[in-house]
Amino acid sequence: MKICTIIGARPQFVKAAAVSRILATIPHLQEIIIHTGQHYDYNLSGLFFDELSLPKPNYNLNVGSETHGKQTGKMLEGIEHYLTIEKPDWVLVYGDTNSTLAGALAAVKLHIPIAHVEAGLRSFNRKMPEEINRIITDQLSTLLFPPTENGLQQLIKEGYSNKKICLSGDVMFDAIEFYNQRNQNRETILSKIKLPVNEYILVTIHRAENTDDISRLQNISNALIELAKDFHIVLPLHARTKAKMIQYDLYSPLAKHIHIIEPVGYLDMLALEKHAVLIITDSGGVQKESYFNKVPCITLRDETEWIELVEFGWNILCSPNQPFSLKTLVSEHLAQRQEKSYPSLYGDGNAATIIADMLCSAC
Ligand code: UDP
Repeated sequence: MKICTIIGARPQFVKAAAVSRILATIPHLQEIIIHTGQHYDYNLSGLFFDELSLPKPNYNLNVGSETHGKQTGKMLEGIEHYLTIEKPDWVLVYGDTNSTLAGALAAVKLHIPIAHVEAGLRSFNRKMPEEINRIITDQLSTLLFPPTENGLQQLIKEGYSNKKICLSGDVMFDAIEFYNQRNQNRETILSKIKLPVNEYILVTIHRAENTDDISRLQNISNALIELAKDFHIVLPLHARTKAKMIQYDLYSPLAKHIHIIEPVGYLDMLALEKHAVLIITDSGGVQKESYFNKVPCITLRDETEWIELVEFGWNILCSPNQPFSLKTLVSEHLAQRQEKSYPSLYGDGNAATIIADMLCSAC
């Protein structure tokens, strides 16, 4: 059996690493990896292949940064070319990026069945490019792997047949369980940068809705500067966010108050998450990783796909649409952190095995 995995962006490397590790143990199964090149900086791409032992891509399309249409179009052309050569039994796509959409579109036109990992997630905000990518990819897929009960129920609500859906759990939970062990004997970033362990706040910002809107980015920046009076703050800054902050003259004022560092590799990120007192983010993956580490989270967005974390009180949504303060929110959230229950919302850490078994039996 041949499976072709299509990936291109940072979170997909983490997810695919969890599944590839299991696929590699199955006799007579060959995995071909197409990297679209959506992320190309070493610290957003190559570092992840090195650290996570993800097999090197068989093909790299090197599409780079482009407008959505141009980028997706280039990917579509490249993926179609290699799928025609490789003729896989399955195309495996992850999450909600342009690489996900292009992979699914190319495969469906070649009549190759598609498996979508992280199916059924919705923000109900169609202005997000990710939301469009998710909805269309689910439509085109033969097998849908929702990570959560909410994802499963959403697919049923949208009329998908039960036969197509398999509640797998979340491969990011598999990943954190596995890679946390690698960190045990490793010197992490915490020994290099001076941060008071279990007292600092970790921040990540990269969503287009926050970076491409000057007033939202300004509001975020102001709120962080105010919060920095009370907490040490560390921000591994995504290249796109940095470019926008420089463009809007927000970078230098912020850098005077908080500890800005380059984006870190996954293993260092796990260490930063584990020892943070609280996490502030607009990332989908980091919201869940906060929970896996039992660290309270504030999400700087108007909505989230990971609604169960809000329901159980681990995550609070805070819209950057208007000027806002994080001071009270942070202190209240921290005061309540001991009271929260910690149900198993993302499976048992064997999502990748469930996915691999399903692909083999459906072939
Ligand atoms: N991540 C990382 N280094 C960083 C920031 C994030 O390794 O400097 C990891 C993070 O731990 C998570 C994934 O990248 O596993 C999330 O990716 P991102 O926030 O880019 O995308 P999203 O999850 O929002 O789609």
